[in-house]
Amino acid sequence: MILFNFFRLNILSLYLHTLIINPVIKKLLYTALLLTTILIGCKKDGSVGPNGAKDDAAFTNYENSFLEGLWKLNPDWATSVGYHKYDSLLFVPDDKLRDKMTTYAKVQLDSLSRFDIATLNDPNKIDYHLMQNQMESIEWTNQSLRADQWDPSSYNVISTFAYILNEHYEPLAKRLRNFYQKMANIPAYYKEAEKQLKNPVTELTDLAIEQHTGGVSVIEKDFGDSLKKTNIPAAEQKQMLERAHTSAEAIKAYTEWLKALKNDHPKSFRLGKELYEDKFKFDIQSASTAQQIYNAAIERKKSIHHAMAQISKKLWPKYFGSKAMPADSLDLIAQVIDTLSSKHVAPGQFQSAIENLLPKLTAFVSTKDLVAIDPAKPLVVRKEPGYMAGVAGASMSSPGPYDKDGNSYFNVGSLNGWPAEKAESYLREYNQYTLQILCIHEAIPGHYVQLVHANQAPSLIKSIFGNSAMIEGWAVYSEEMMLDNGYDNDSPEIRLMWYKWHLRSVCNTILDYSVHTQNMSKQDALKLLTHEAFQQQAEAEGKWKRVSVTSVQLDSYFTGYKEIIDLREAYKKKMGDKYKLKEFNEKFLSYGSAPVKFIRDAMLAKDNTPSH
Ligand code: ZN
Ligand code: ZN
Repeated sequence: MILFNFFRLNILSLYLHTLIINPVIKKLLYTALLLTTILIGCKKDGSVGPNGAKDDAAFTNYENSFLEGLWKLNPDWATSVGYHKYDSLLFVPDDKLRDKMTTYAKVQLDSLSRFDIATLNDPNKIDYHLMQNQMESIEWTNQSLRADQWDPSSYNVISTFAYILNEHYEPLAKRLRNFYQKMANIPAYYKEAEKQLKNPVTELTDLAIEQHTGGVSVIEKDFGDSLKKTNIPAAEQKQMLERAHTSAEAIKAYTEWLKALKNDHPKSFRLGKELYEDKFKFDIQSASTAQQIYNAAIERKKSIHHAMAQISKKLWPKYFGSKAMPADSLDLIAQVIDTLSSKHVAPGQFQSAIENLLPKLTAFVSTKDLVAIDPAKPLVVRKEPGYMAGVAGASMSSPGPYDKDGNSYFNVGSLNGWPAEKAESYLREYNQYTLQILCIHEAIPGHYVQLVHANQAPSLIKSIFGNSAMIEGWAVYSEEMMLDNGYDNDSPEIRLMWYKWHLRSVCNTILDYSVHTQNMSKQDALKLLTHEAFQQQAEAEGKWKRVSVTSVQLDSYFTGYKEIIDLREAYKKKMGDKYKLKEFNEKFLSYGSAPVKFIRDAMLAKDNTPSH
């Protein structure tokens, strides 16, 4: 059932440089109380292209009924994208519900097939592909993947309740009454989960226990605290609290059931090659297979290591004088990186350092004429809200698809109260060089700029089914673009640190593919990350934990980056002396958060050739 896959609390996620995106990827980024939706978009305005105007108008109407049907069957998903008509509903995840969803997907695929895609304009063509992919993905999830049988963490109601509690889209009393009604099915929901699970994956069982234990306070405590702030009559409040108590007990009973579960033959957490390729096809929507992207990542790692060794040799005398250079090039690189990492801000200056950097980035982007930045959509830097506390050092929150005028926030976690050693290690990771790269990635011209541009593409479909590889790929691409254009004088120091940062994306792909399809051991995984990607032991351990409870999502960064670079090369060739970087960037972004392969089709199409 796709609905369950979309909702996942992830307490273990200390995922830095985290963009909280659409429901598909959101599951990976959630923490117990981290509840921010995103992705932007607005209603189709019904405008139509020069050709096939009739088809485009009909297609736009169809999109609206398609979404309405989807929300009706998936109230939790609807809530998370900012569609609040079904906030009071919680469905029990039984066979009947799964069949209903599969039937819905089949019906939509049939409806789609009645449109002639060739007659649609470019934006609608892409919407068509996204809708088709989503419906095929639902069929595959319900018929082949069947995570509902082996992933206990796929059953989790808490994130939607936390969303209803923490997002201020309606008056508090109204939200709490929906919360109350929605709780009615919690006991039945978890009873059904117990019925569906068979020999679940051990790592995902542990994750489910961890998430429910950490998240139950939303229902057990936070709900009651919020009730006190309303003028809901006392008798009604009493009834509401009683249901919250019953609900919390049902959640605790589920964790106890999981702890006591006799499971002598658990399913492996490794997805296996066949399911992996399918999942990659649906989630990443690349023109390449997972195997091809993996091969490209291996090549990329080699060439980065070569470039890093060259830079390190050059920098060695500056930082180590006449001390003998290590013979092993990976050791050499590691030592130079270690030395450069000691340049960092003081713990109390982390947020102000970020605030000071953003105008500098904006100025650089406009001086170099890289991409338009809309001054009317300011980015607000804020201290991480309480309910996100302790999660990510920095993250972007953008308004949801149904709330495109909402603010974009750059959430910065405070290091207050951290033990000195932990703060030092964190600040070395986000040192003077990588802190700048972080801000480029998250904000300017990375995620924030991309999302503002996506917002101008009038497609709700693209913001709801936004493509993670395109979104993460753009952020990674923008880092390199800034350096290539002379950011921070493209000093050898920042270039070396960028390569280290970039290796994280490249090795995410190598790790994910190797672990899920080639049986890579934990020991080899840690060796890859610490020795070849220069990560600290703690970061590598965290990544191992992440790869053992997720799959494919880690491929987004490198896949998207590679496809954008390849597209830019092809576009350069096509445009000849008319090529301009800014024009490429803005055209690319104008399609919204669509898979790069479809943007590629549109940008390289013959009729998009400039007239000479
Ligand atoms: Zn230090
Ligand atoms: Zn990102």
